[in-house]
Amino acid sequence: MALTKRRSASPTSGETRRTNWAGNVRFSARKVASPTSTDELQEIIAGAEKVKAIGTGHSFSAVADTDGLQLDLTRLPRIVELHPAARRVRVSAGLRYSDVVEMFHRNGFALANLPSLPDVSMIGAIQTATHGSGKGQRSLADSVHAIEMIRSDGELVRVQRGDPDFAGVVVGLGSLGVVTSIELNLVETYDIRQRVYEDLPLERAQEEFDGLMASGYSVSLFHSWSRPNFVDSLLVKRKVGGVGRFPMSFFGARRAARSRHPVRGVSASTCTQQLGVVGPWFDRLPHFRIGGTAARGAELQSEYFVPRAQSSAALEQLRRCAASFRQVLLVNEVRIVSGDDHWLSYAYGTDVTGFHFTWKPDREEVWKAVREIERHLVPLGARPHLGKIHSLSADEVTRHLPMAEPFRSLRSRYDPRGAFANSTIESLGL
Ligand SMILES: Cc1cc2nc3c(=O)[nH]c(=O)nc-3n(C[C@H](O)[C@H](O)[C@H](O)COP(=O)(O)OP(=O)(O)OC[C@H]3O[C@@H](n4cnc5c(N)ncnc54)[C@H](O)[C@@H]3O)c2cc1C
Repeated sequence: MALTKRRSASPTSGETRRTNWAGNVRFSARKVASPTSTDELQEIIAGAEKVKAIGTGHSFSAVADTDGLQLDLTRLPRIVELHPAARRVRVSAGLRYSDVVEMFHRNGFALANLPSLPDVSMIGAIQTATHGSGKGQRSLADSVHAIEMIRSDGELVRVQRGDPDFAGVVVGLGSLGVVTSIELNLVETYDIRQRVYEDLPLERAQEEFDGLMASGYSVSLFHSWSRPNFVDSLLVKRKVGGVGRFPMSFFGARRAARSRHPVRGVSASTCTQQLGVVGPWFDRLPHFRIGGTAARGAELQSEYFVPRAQSSAALEQLRRCAASFRQVLLVNEVRIVSGDDHWLSYAYGTDVTGFHFTWKPDREEVWKAVREIERHLVPLGARPHLGKIHSLSADEVTRHLPMAEPFRSLRSRYDPRGAFANSTIESLGL
């Protein structure tokens, strides 16, 4: 549905964001615009040759880059409209989860899931299908009911669940338009307790993978592969009022007596509270506390998703090649994400298991490591997280995106002049 249309532009100039959070992507934009109204934003977009919105810049790929005008939306009017009867909220696109989650909770509401870091922008997370973990949990894009976005002709459109374009626009890598607001579905607020278990036998993880990952509302395995036959730790997050205590021994792993950071040997001071202490969802589902992560990152990240049935085989492949990448690895996290219908999602049409790698910031060694991991996981149907580092070809990525062609048609309608295109979109042939 078209809402309004505006024309003619004069972008504000100012300081561009030079690099992403991790510093491995140097942005090409030479100008930044920080509009203060939707009208102004529409004019800027319609008048710019190349333009792209940036969220909090936490992606590790060049997905947010543009060689034209960088858009910083943080000066747009803040929208937070709660609709309790509909169990929905409308928020301005540039807000971070950490800006709003406490307010949702105070009003009796919650989101079904969150990523490990709550300080990312909601729209950046949604456009890249950022995810948490848990049986029956889809990526964060699943909470979207509707979005309002400005196409490259400057027209503001609203697309909601049920509209034919909806499954194409929500996970769009910023290539269809600039989203100004999102409407999210909420659930009733809930409390969570989390516990860490140490030294999980890899064999048990492989044999009982589904049961293990279903043993809490959200479950993660953390592996340094320093002792390949033991997963360093298992993080189990359970809803209060749900099933079960936290026994001393669990799938052969030992309950940790102290709080643990996912990376072995690092202080847990930035982590959300563990040891079974009850807390609200927004202060337990993310691994890291709001504001607890450094302003700049000394790490790189990659992630590959395999169909759920291949989880045990993927662990076996990683065990085989661990010696080739563990020197540069900080931690490998394993999570599950349920299938969805978003065209560019790695979980399109199938339940997946995500194998995430946090790397030391050594780009050369990381490239070698990702190639080796890809060599072992691609035969199992691995798909990459497009907000993270990978070295797969367009063919290797789009072979698992059955809706790539419809997405291209959608782009030719929303952005016929390619204003939102960038190296990520072009290299994937999308
Ligand atoms: C410490 C850390 C932990 C992380 N944990 C997780 C995790 O648990 N799970 C996971 O899946 N990922 C995780 N990530 C990856 C991260 O969530 C994604 O890369 C996400 O995109 C970051 O959001 P952002 O706002 O920084 O996006 P950006 O990198 O700024 O942008 C991402 C994309 O969104 C687009 N975009 C931004 N704003 C708009 C807009 N207004 N309209 C249209 N498009 C827009 C950009 O153009 C770009 O294509 C983590 C990253 C870090 C650094």
